[in-house]
Amino acid sequence: MRILAIETSCDDTSAAVVQDGRQVLSNVISSQIDFHQKFGGVVPEIASRKHLEAVELVIQEALDRAEMAFDNVDGIGVTYGPGLIGALLVGLSSAKAIALAIDKPLIGVHHIEGHISANYIADQSLTPPFLCLVVSGGHTYIVEVEDYCKYRIIGKTHDDAAGEAFDKVARTLGLGYPGGPAIEKRAALGRAIIEFPKPVIRDHPYDFSFSGLKTAVLNYINTARQKGQGIPVEDIAASFQKAVVDVLVDKAINAALEYNIGTIAVAGGVAANVVLKETMDETCRRNGLRFIHPQPILCTDNAAMIGSAAFFKWQRGYISDLFLNAEANIPLQ
Ligand code: ATP
Ligand code: FE
Repeated sequence: MRILAIETSCDDTSAAVVQDGRQVLSNVISSQIDFHQKFGGVVPEIASRKHLEAVELVIQEALDRAEMAFDNVDGIGVTYGPGLIGALLVGLSSAKAIALAIDKPLIGVHHIEGHISANYIADQSLTPPFLCLVVSGGHTYIVEVEDYCKYRIIGKTHDDAAGEAFDKVARTLGLGYPGGPAIEKRAALGRAIIEFPKPVIRDHPYDFSFSGLKTAVLNYINTARQKGQGIPVEDIAASFQKAVVDVLVDKAINAALEYNIGTIAVAGGVAANVVLKETMDETCRRNGLRFIHPQPILCTDNAAMIGSAAFFKWQRGYISDLFLNAEANIPLQ
């Protein structure tokens, strides 16, 4: 089963061809970052327009790289939400048009289900059940993947997502957008010597809160400014990153141990962070857990992960009709 997948939920226009959910034949990603950077974040209207300009070319490039024509495609996978509504509509309309024209099944995919499925590509032997720490720009979850396409949310954030916290702290430090990679780079030059708070949420041991940490960083910077001191950007970046990583790793490991799940995977843009990966790897090893992580290109938005998720949905009979609509907010289940 060769699925042509399309992903346009935020600021990357991406198309891919994935065979049987695991083998990536092509994965083309056209980034719009240059157009959004001067605004310090993604401008939804610009994102929709840029997707419109790029989508046809990106799809054709994905087919070319897979050495395929539309005739050889067995199904179309597409992100229908959550995300920016105008951006989603561009990919979804293209997917519907292709599905109708070539008379092949359309499979709508939840964006976060896509992020999780990147792990089926990363480790060809991975099968549920496993635990997945989802850390993206808009979502933070500890999810038990009970079976293919079957999820149970064990923990979630009460305010900012992990990626959002990286982006906001980076902006405060004047490091630009996107914040995660910028913080990671500066953190590598600093020391994690500042004690930022690690929030605990009473009665919800696997939930997260990052807004207090963000405010603590802001207060630290303002206090230093008022005292006329320099801002130790590298040390702040390293200390903030450590605080986030420690809390993510602690909770994911504790959840795996409590629920007796032997494998932990990570997903979403923040999963590209090397310190998170190394800390998780080491802590999993110490606790006798198996750790799986997608390569960085499969952590941030890409269509290959959507192609993987679409295959497993198709296998279980989840086919969409041409009335499928884009949704800005939809729960994982
Ligand atoms: P969502 O998937 O929740 O809808 P999104 O698609 O915008 O949101 P992703 O593409 O999954 O988010 O990830 C982007 C986020 O990951 C951004 O917040 C970015 O700062 C963060 N990020 C990317 N690389 C790194 C890194 N190396 N370290 C930390 N954070 C990172
Ligand atoms: Fe994403």
